Amino acid sequence: MKGNDVIYICGTDEHGTPNEIEAMRRGISPKELVDHYYKEIKDGFDGFHISFDNFSRTSREIHHETAKRFFLKVKEKGYIYKKKVKQMYCENCKRFLPDRYVEGACPYCGFESARGDQCDNCGRILEPSDLINPRCAICGEKPVLRDTEHYFFKLSAFQDELERWIKSNKHWKPNVVNFCLGWIKEGLKDRAITRDLEWGVKVPGEEDKVLYVWFEAPIGYISSTKEWAEKIGEPDKWKEFWMDPKSKIVHFIAKDNIPFHAIIWPAMLLAHGGYNLPWQIPANEYVIICGTKASASRKWGIWLNEYLKRFENPDFMRYTLLINSPQSRDFDFTWEEFQRRVNTELNDVLGNFVHRTLVFLKRYFNGVLPEGEIEGEVAEIVEKTFEEVGEDIENFKIKQGLKKVMELASFGNKYFDKGKPWEGVKRGEMEEVARVIRNCSYIVANLSVLLAPYLPRTASEIWRMLNLDGEVHEARWAPISIDGLRVTKEPKPLFRKITDEEVLREKKLLGLEEEKLVEEETIDIDYFKKIDLRVGVVKEAERIEGTNKLILLKVDLGSGSERTIVAGIGDQYDPEDLIGKKLIIVANLKPKKIRGVESQGMILAAESKGKVFLVTAEDSPPGAKVT
Ligand SMILES: [Zn+2]
Ligand SMILES: [Zn+2]
Repeated sequence: MKGNDVIYICGTDEHGTPNEIEAMRRGISPKELVDHYYKEIKDGFDGFHISFDNFSRTSREIHHETAKRFFLKVKEKGYIYKKKVKQMYCENCKRFLPDRYVEGACPYCGFESARGDQCDNCGRILEPSDLINPRCAICGEKPVLRDTEHYFFKLSAFQDELERWIKSNKHWKPNVVNFCLGWIKEGLKDRAITRDLEWGVKVPGEEDKVLYVWFEAPIGYISSTKEWAEKIGEPDKWKEFWMDPKSKIVHFIAKDNIPFHAIIWPAMLLAHGGYNLPWQIPANEYVIICGTKASASRKWGIWLNEYLKRFENPDFMRYTLLINSPQSRDFDFTWEEFQRRVNTELNDVLGNFVHRTLVFLKRYFNGVLPEGEIEGEVAEIVEKTFEEVGEDIENFKIKQGLKKVMELASFGNKYFDKGKPWEGVKRGEMEEVARVIRNCSYIVANLSVLLAPYLPRTASEIWRMLNLDGEVHEARWAPISIDGLRVTKEPKPLFRKITDEEVLREKKLLGLEEEKLVEEETIDIDYFKKIDLRVGVVKEAERIEGTNKLILLKVDLGSGSERTIVAGIGDQYDPEDLIGKKLIIVANLKPKKIRGVESQGMILAAESKGKVFLVTAEDSPPGAKVT
């Protein structure tokens, strides 16, 4: 939109051992499995309007060829050698076990389910032999070490060069730089780049070895670019991006991928020579799903395609995720947060402003934009928003940019409120109404452009409602003229609200219906500490006349202190059963009149599935403080 020559490349990494393991478990071939996932992933991206210039797969011929050539070139330059190694072998399965086929405890953090290549908990790269109590991922038996031969990449040769390069990247995020320098400081070790597997890119000149995925998959960025260049009929154009030093390569990844993209991949590129190193790696922190880290292998997440079956609008989710981008800390996604963002921001701020403006334009001006000037204040804030949001996006401050777009919508609402066009209509001051609606329409039209990178579908919808020429996604990143703007159809609201039922349904689908989810920040421990819990003996208990639920209790709190408490447990307990019980009393509540009786406390109880359970403390004296 700024007029730069940009391509957006991605693809599925299909050779990983997780795929092989999963295929084995399902009794199908790895190819069948990855065909299924490729389609599913691609459909999900399409449905969310994530529009890559090319979305490739590492199982394609163009990638196999590119990866083999890359290997041969690096080998020719002396950075690949063959070495005898000991490798985990499962005597039960009668096979060598590559990295992920071995599981065990992490030697650094103790995490029980660390894999032989990496610990999901602390992010360290591991060797299968590092694991404590290793086990075969296929059968669970303890593997043994056996001799075999593998190719190695001389990562150690790039220690100094990488350190210099990383230190020179002053524009990187400090967390990425620090992570890398810490890693390099520990000393870079040569790494095996081949494995004894069937499924993968065959090692040139070897029968039963394939390239290790960590070595072969990133080369997929180059293959995908080549594939794109072929598709557009300019087969050499990929070189502009990978070989012209003026081009800038950006890797969008999460923090667990930093070692591969900021150390190992650059070392491979240096070994090969002639290719650009990454220019920027704006690694994000994690999105946590309702308290647990999202994980494809552990099947914990919200699947794009399933979301699209239940919610008609991908922008609900895009907005929630973008406004919470985990740029500097993890974001814990909850369905309540989703509901809040959609209802109070998309609906009440953006949707409301666009809708009321277009309704006025249609109703009082027959949809035709009233002629006249755009006020200086409005023109200025629109221009400033373009400048600042553009800068934010270029600096990978994605959520800061989106917040500014929403602030413009907020400004629009305030402008509308201040202009009170509904009163102008009543008084017949149509000149004044025209001024307000013209300026608001200008903001609406420009919001469409500003939203294009964030909420592509919403942006298109606004654009279409305004009958502007062409497509919003062809627009340039600058304030647009709104000459010829016309609303012909009755404006429809852009969004709808998310109901409590939907929130509940989604939580049930995640298996969370029994739990009350509380965000850590909302538990105010200091407040909680103020609650005085005491043991009290029930001396008297009787039902309050005319009620089924209320029981009047006289409770002894020790040292001669007695309390009257009205408790709503009459439908579950008989008064006589309570006498003599030692209950837990909230002793420092303000007294409250219930049915004409002053209740001087509450009793502590737990509820599950509509049944109430009183908490008792039979071994404590009355008045004892619960700590
Ligand atoms: Zn660990
Ligand atoms: Zn085994």
